[in-house]
Amino acid sequence: MTVERICPVCQGRAWSDFLTTGSGRVLVGGDQRVVPGYIHKLECSICGTISNARIASAEELQNLYTNEYLGQQAGMDHIFFDEGNMKTRGRVIYEWLRPWLPQSPASLIEIGCGEGHVLMHVAKEMPWLKCRGIEGSQRASDIARQAGLEVDNLLISGDYAISEDFDVIICFGVLEHIEEIESFIGILLKIATTGGRYIFGVPLQDFLTHDVFFSEHIWHWTSGQFIRMLSRMGLNAVMVDNNPDYPGFGLFVCHKSDSAGVCPEISDSNARSIRDWWLGTFKSIDNWLAENGDKRIAVFGAGEILCLLMAYTDLGKREIIACLDEDIRKHGLFNGIPVYAPDWLNDNEVDAVILTLNLRYQSLVAKKMEGYGVEVYSWGCNI
Ligand SMILES: [Zn+2]
Repeated sequence: MTVERICPVCQGRAWSDFLTTGSGRVLVGGDQRVVPGYIHKLECSICGTISNARIASAEELQNLYTNEYLGQQAGMDHIFFDEGNMKTRGRVIYEWLRPWLPQSPASLIEIGCGEGHVLMHVAKEMPWLKCRGIEGSQRASDIARQAGLEVDNLLISGDYAISEDFDVIICFGVLEHIEEIESFIGILLKIATTGGRYIFGVPLQDFLTHDVFFSEHIWHWTSGQFIRMLSRMGLNAVMVDNNPDYPGFGLFVCHKSDSAGVCPEISDSNARSIRDWWLGTFKSIDNWLAENGDKRIAVFGAGEILCLLMAYTDLGKREIIACLDEDIRKHGLFNGIPVYAPDWLNDNEVDAVILTLNLRYQSLVAKKMEGYGVEVYSWGCNI
């Protein structure tokens, strides 16, 4: 199949179908919304990079990231939890990139800084630093400014030029959203001081991620494909890291190509096995829902995985009586479902609770739920 799209990694123009969904609903992953639509992704026939089939227009992206994005989660930094350990997403990202910051940088910019959850840590721990953010969403940048950060509300595109230079340029969870990625990287190349450092975080298909089901992620790379793309565009990745506290993402520390760089081994793409694992899992969940059609159900976990299942399984067509979640900030309504603390089960009855949490939390929560004497469907442990 030949489409207009050019692969940013190998510059190939030949693509084959990779994924088409038919539920009629899609997940807008970044702000956890389920909306009508379908997914159509392609795979580069030469290098295996995955891409959205349709090229989004500049107006469409402008509207999504300026007005619509962050509608669901405004003002709330996502919490990652492990036994006895709760950390915000911003803190996890900051602690991850902190060892890779230069000794004493004078200036730092984060492009796509959202509500400033990462920049807040940077500004607090390095008060001498000239610290700036750029964010497309008006609402998110307002929240960041209210927290005392210097944030410009704009979406970088086309021939936009940033007038200052920075020692550190951070883009976390941004590049996979950028349609014109080569010109975007071109803008970044112009704003580093001599020896300036770039730190990128992107979801990778090296692990069992699910971002291939995000409608607004335009690109899905492995670490090898991403490094190859950066290298073609003039950046050497001098360090690549993953983090068990932030599964599915890779961190890339880069310099302009005239500095010495060590290119790590190129990994094979797991994209097809990841896709097939999820499609099989969606089918198992649909089978369970069909077999248990008369059961009154609740779910546990008001977040991305619940949206993923609501978008691509029959859970999206089923009445969900309640969603249980330990994070009290989420109590209220989430995608139309009332969210309560787990002890809601003490006074209310359902026939089964479906775990709608990240895989790594499922056995822990399944164990916690034993005390309530209700059937728990933990698809992450069963498969
Ligand atoms: Zn390619």
